[in-house]
Amino acid sequence: MSKIKSLFSKNSTSTAVAINDADSIILDTPAKDNILTDASNSMSGNTPIEQTRWNGWGNVSINKKVSSHGAKLIKSHIGKTKKLSSVSLQQVLKTVPKSRLPAAMTKLATVSIDKEVRLRHARGQSFPDWIAMHSGDFEVFPDGVAFPESTADVETLLKLAHDHDLIVIPFGGGTSVVGHINPQKGSRPVLTIAMSKMDQLIDLDTESQIATFGAGTQGPAVEAQLDAQGYRLGHYPQSWELSTLGGWIAARSSGQQSLGYGRIEQMFAGGTLVTPQGVLNIADIPASSAGPDLREMLMGTEGRAGIFTEVKMRVQPQPEEELFKVAFLPNWEAGKEVLRQAVQKNVRLSMLRLSNAVETDAHLHLGTSPSQFLAISTYLKARGLSSDKVMLTYGVSGDKAQNKLALTQFNKLLKQHGSVTGKITDIMGSVWAHGRFKFPYLRGTLWDKGIMVDTFETATNWNNIDEQMQQMQEAVRNALSDEGENVMAFTHISHVYKQGASLYTTYFFRAAKDHATTLKRWQKIKQAASLSLANGTATISHQHGVGRDHAPYLAAEKGKLGIQVTHDMLKSLDPEQRMNPGVLIED
Ligand SMILES: Cc1cc2nc3c(=O)[nH]c(=O)nc-3n(C[C@H](O)[C@H](O)[C@H](O)COP(=O)(O)OP(=O)(O)OC[C@H]3O[C@@H](n4cnc5c(N)ncnc54)[C@H](O)[C@@H]3O)c2cc1C
Repeated sequence: MSKIKSLFSKNSTSTAVAINDADSIILDTPAKDNILTDASNSMSGNTPIEQTRWNGWGNVSINKKVSSHGAKLIKSHIGKTKKLSSVSLQQVLKTVPKSRLPAAMTKLATVSIDKEVRLRHARGQSFPDWIAMHSGDFEVFPDGVAFPESTADVETLLKLAHDHDLIVIPFGGGTSVVGHINPQKGSRPVLTIAMSKMDQLIDLDTESQIATFGAGTQGPAVEAQLDAQGYRLGHYPQSWELSTLGGWIAARSSGQQSLGYGRIEQMFAGGTLVTPQGVLNIADIPASSAGPDLREMLMGTEGRAGIFTEVKMRVQPQPEEELFKVAFLPNWEAGKEVLRQAVQKNVRLSMLRLSNAVETDAHLHLGTSPSQFLAISTYLKARGLSSDKVMLTYGVSGDKAQNKLALTQFNKLLKQHGSVTGKITDIMGSVWAHGRFKFPYLRGTLWDKGIMVDTFETATNWNNIDEQMQQMQEAVRNALSDEGENVMAFTHISHVYKQGASLYTTYFFRAAKDHATTLKRWQKIKQAASLSLANGTATISHQHGVGRDHAPYLAAEKGKLGIQVTHDMLKSLDPEQRMNPGVLIED
């Protein structure tokens, strides 16, 4: 035991983490390099876009290593890999065409037609976006990018968009993974409206616990500004570093601690939406029986109904104590039972995440050195766990007495289901928390090795969890069999409800000989995965939204009439189909 502890307590910390979303791979995180984990850092505003990668994830100064035996494990599934080529920024800048915006607009102080600014707002973080950013084949760029500083600025911009018949794309942090913000070919010029300058806490009503923010505020700036006054929102998607309040609301996001703090739907109290038909104020009333809930109707509209400018969020005082821990269980069935019973018995945890056996093994490989891996494996084996073991990460957030009660109740459940816990698993929980927002940086590291990675996610009832997981994984693993290519896939549950849970699958495949063929491989996998969800019992997305990539599958979930109602509502606010057309529902 002491040997294991020492392996984790040198210059690095090791962390259970994920590639895209809220989760999964255990990795070395240098202790001094954790600017992302402290909400209380000095971020009183957003990260300037120049400090972010133009063709990948996150801050240019941050990288994430992958362990050699982790990469070896993936290659043992998918075969030898070869890196794809990447174009330079200068090469892509040469392909940005002249702006088609009318002169009246290019002269506005709020509008930029600078080529690099347009390039940096042309794509998000989906797999096709990464292919575009590395091949240089962007296809379309916005004709200009506006940076409003107030609701009045947004009103002016939408009026000008009407006068000059422009397409408008609201842009938050640009972290969409389903093609939400990509301009399309067409005769109407495209104006992207980037909300990055509306990044301040405007008001904090401590009596009602409502904070009013500019909708363009990114995660770290939200929490830093609240933390300065002793408050917290508690919304931590894996993209927290760059994603914004407006994007979370418009795409119905869910954060890692949704069990304790709720999804964005529970946090969003109301606010201002500037639509092409005028300004719509959504009152921040605690509850109402006065007809359909406009607040609910407008969340998830993905930029098609208008632009959220100021948003009122339900906040709470900083917790007295916050802890994250890890436990191992003998198998998936045992782990799943612990999750289901914990949520249905109202145990007050703030997060629960369960990796299946393949994911557990992958995490243990990817996040450790060979000696750390050996030490943990030996420790778990000596306590009776086999290769069926699963890793469960959990957290509490609240006052100490409440946390103590929750942990006592949860430990009882864990023990009843044969868990292995100890100081070492507690350390794994702490290091997970410490490095959790660095996990998305792995994607670039793997990309550079020719290992392509993407994820997809859903939610379904408890009685369908196992079957759905099997279907998703099978669909993905077999998607390239006609080419003789193997796909590695594993899954975890990361958001739990009394009725059911989310399922989140990560998959790896080899880059092909060129970008176009690699994209075709991804398209085959994406289609197989999406069809495995379009069965009426699982949603096409639990947290990433619809965008363009999921739009063809939405009717299977909402039905023809449901799509018609959504279409008519959007049309009533945007009769000229100016706002992000083609996103959410196919027009
Ligand atoms: C590495 C990574 C990890 C991720 N992890 C998670 C996760 O754990 N949970 C999760 O929920 N999602 C996750 N996502 C997906 C993504 O972060 C979410 O969809 C997020 O809500 C997008 O926010 P954004 O500010 O970046 O919005 P953008 O990507 O800029 O836009 C998303 C949509 O919202 C619209 N929009 C943006 N701002 C406004 C506004 N002010 N008014 C009206 N419409 C607006 C846009 O038009 C677009 O349709 C992840 C993405 C990445 C790349």
